[in-house]
Formats: sequence, C-alpha cells, structure tokens
Amino acid sequence: AQKKPVNIHEGIDSTLMILQNRLKARSTYPEIEVDKHYADLPLVECYAGQLNQVFMNLLSNSIDALEETLELHPEKLPYPKIGIATEAIDSSWVRIKIFDNGPGIPPEIVNRLFDPFFTTKPIGKGTGLGLSISYQIIVEKHGGRLNCVSEAHQGAMFVIEIPVQTTER
Ligand code: ADP
Ligand code: MG
Repeated sequence: AQKKPVNIHEGIDSTLMILQNRLKARSTYPEIEVDKHYADLPLVECYAGQLNQVFMNLLSNSIDALEETLELHPEKLPYPKIGIATEAIDSSWVRIKIFDNGPGIPPEIVNRLFDPFFTTKPIGKGTGLGLSISYQIIVEKHGGRLNCVSEAHQGAMFVIEIPVQTTER
C-alpha cells in the first residue's frame, strides 16, 4: 500500500459505522452517545487503512471502558459519551482527540499503556496490543505523536497529532 491524501473525517466515520452495533443501546443500558466536533481539515498524506486501525483501537478502548462501567455501576454513568474532536494545529499539522467519560486511567499505569501486551482486561478480552500498534502507526509510520492525557476518574483522552505531509522514520 502507498500513502495517499486522506480525509480524516471519512476514516473516523467509517470506523464508527463498523462499531455501530456496539454503540447502540442494550435493553438495560443507555446508548453510548458520540459527540463529534469536526473542524476544517486539510487532507493528510497517510496509509488510510493503518490510520483507520488507530481510530478502531482508540474507539474500541473507549467503548470497552464505558461498557465495563455500565455493567458494574450503571448508576455512575447515566450519560455514557465518547467525544471526537479534530482541529488544524496550523497548515501542516492536524490534531484528533478521542475521549470518553468512563473510569479514566489510574496514574500508576499511564506510563505502561503503550507497552506491547499491557492490558488490564480479562484474558480473552484484551490483547494489550491496541495502543502499542497505534503508537507504531502514528509515531513511526507517520512521524506524528500519540499521547494519553487522562486522569483517574476523569475519563480518558487520547490525542493524535499528525503532520499533513507524513514522514517515515
Ligand atoms: P487492550 O484493549 O487489549 O487491553 P490496549 O493496548 O488497547 O490493550 O490498551 C491497554 C490498556 O489501556 C487497557 O487494558 C486499559 O487498561 C487502558 N485503556 C486504554 N484506553 C482506555 C480508556 N479509554 N479508558 C480506560 N482505560 C483505557
Ligand atoms: Mg484495546
């Protein structure tokens, strides 16, 4: 596959379509709402399939986190929500934030999140590879940045920053 100019919003929207069933209400849960704030973005030169993989990994993690709380303590989460916000940082970089109002990430594990095989999920549910693969794709394949800026009990936020003309390392 070759890099080509990609509309980021199309990638996010098609990922959301694939995840649609998981976002829909179960009989006992409120539906997970997706709140999108899309800005005017330049096309980004990238591997479209790889970038979609990152959106899939981050959005799946938010859904997992929200569903876990909805199963254990639904009363704590009357309005389960995922937020997606995009912005052009300047003419050569874009920023994509994916966040949720789930349990957040305890400070003691934040620096291990991107390690391969690090997971807090039960066996069979998590491989612990989603974030490490996402980091590889964003940082190594596209010369971008991927950060977690979350605090415990404040929900989780992942920030992707990617140059419009990407460079491989
Ligand atoms: P996996 O999803 O298979 O566990 P990941 O690499 O995708 O592996 O994520 C690693 C860990 O990071 C998760 O097990 C979870 O503890 C934490 N994590 C990632 N995203 C979130 C989120 N949105 N909310 C809370 N914890 C998260
Ligand atoms: Mg994951």
